[in-house]
Amino acid sequence: MARTSWRAMTKVLLSLPIVFLCASASSQVSSTSVVLLGTGVPYPDPAAAGSATAVVVGSRVFLFDAGAGVMRRVSAAKLPIDGPTALFITHLHSDHTIGYPDVILTTWVMGRVKPLEAYGPHGLQAMTDNILAAWKEDIDIRTNGLEHETANGYAVHVHEIGPGVVYDSGGVKITAIPVLHGSWKESYGYRIDTPDRSIVVSGDTRPSPALQAAATGVDVLIHEVHPEGGGRAGAPASPGWLRYQREFHTSDVELGRLATAANPKMLVLYHFGGKESVADRVVSTIQSQGYRGRILVGRDLDRF
Ligand SMILES: [Zn+2]
Ligand SMILES: [Zn+2]
Repeated sequence: MARTSWRAMTKVLLSLPIVFLCASASSQVSSTSVVLLGTGVPYPDPAAAGSATAVVVGSRVFLFDAGAGVMRRVSAAKLPIDGPTALFITHLHSDHTIGYPDVILTTWVMGRVKPLEAYGPHGLQAMTDNILAAWKEDIDIRTNGLEHETANGYAVHVHEIGPGVVYDSGGVKITAIPVLHGSWKESYGYRIDTPDRSIVVSGDTRPSPALQAAATGVDVLIHEVHPEGGGRAGAPASPGWLRYQREFHTSDVELGRLATAANPKMLVLYHFGGKESVADRVVSTIQSQGYRGRILVGRDLDRF
């Protein structure tokens, strides 16, 4: 009896390193990919949803911003519809948060039972409380009516952050970078470091020294751009609009200088504040500043 047990035990022990090897091999191959869920601006372009970007590391999904249409794009990208691992908001402008109620409530209706981990600037807690108050009747009917959704499954755990590392778990480190977005007191870009990739998402910003430093030498820089001299929704630019652009956003000339200095391996343009027809001109303007890396004009559902 004892001999059999030992033989069985030996068998188990011999198999263990293989199991461990497989486990460590599978965690090593959790390569990182980015999915552009929404590359648009406030203009409701059917081809470009509101600002939202997913960074996928193995089975974990980190979502950056929640613009209009975000859950439709999450579904189209075949990412989990019952909630991301965590949501990171760059700033509280509506074109980056109008899909926040969608993320909170749709993920609950689609099966979320744990609190949504939501990170962002101060004011995010009040926004969250107001969203839950606005949908109070819906929450009541879905919980206590015939749908029998999980009680409190809509809950959100808000983290109001400051600059620096805001998330560090399982090999993924996310750092909030203070950026300069006009009169917003608090606006962030994010740097995401995973076991195999470094990625920076700019959020909305005029050229920001902190963002340039954080993006230096990264694998991927995903940056907003508003072509120099462009007007609002294709209209001729007024002096007031040009001033707004200068204080709140980054022109193609400025992005060219920033990309040349930071030299990311790949530059992805998103939150593109201009007509599709000027995309080629924007790319050549960026290159004319000296940037020699790969440039991708981001489209919704691009994956790289
Ligand atoms: Zn924006
Ligand atoms: Zn903004």
